[in-house]
Amino acid sequence: MPESREWLTQWLRDAHAMEEQAETMLSGQLSRLDSYPDLSARIRTHLAETKEQARRLKSCLDGIDEGSSTLKDAGAKLTAMAQSISGVFAGDEVMKGSLASYTFEHMEIASYKILKAAAQAAGEAEIARVCEQNLREEEAMAEWLKDNLAQITEIFLARADADSRNAKR
Ligand code: MG
Ligand code: FE
Repeated sequence: MPESREWLTQWLRDAHAMEEQAETMLSGQLSRLDSYPDLSARIRTHLAETKEQARRLKSCLDGIDEGSSTLKDAGAKLTAMAQSISGVFAGDEVMKGSLASYTFEHMEIASYKILKAAAQAAGEAEIARVCEQNLREEEAMAEWLKDNLAQITEIFLARADADSRNAKR
């Protein structure tokens, strides 16, 4: 296999592992967002997109001569990051989660820009199209978070304020 296809294959595997970690992270966040209906709804939508992204990447990999049997190795790298994102935080998990999500989306954006260029270099137009499709979904999620971080913070602070007033009564 020429070098460009080998790198493309490896990076597709990495991206597939990234999406599996994203799924873990988003599912973990959803369980704690009852008081944030907008954020909760957006994460639910992106969780569905994330599952579909992973499925698209797997079919790209199946199309290149490497099967999904090679997917297993790539997972470990991102596990620590995803665990830190979906793990337990001291009271401000919504804020920590939002911060981490914004960071994660930008890592995904960079990954798909790289993958798309690698796919084009390897003459894989269909894979480049899939990467562009995933890229657009990551950009939309990053944009939504950017536009909503202030409001999420306001809700968080208002709730913290109400909690402390209740505790003092
Ligand atoms: Mg994704
Ligand atoms: Fe994403």
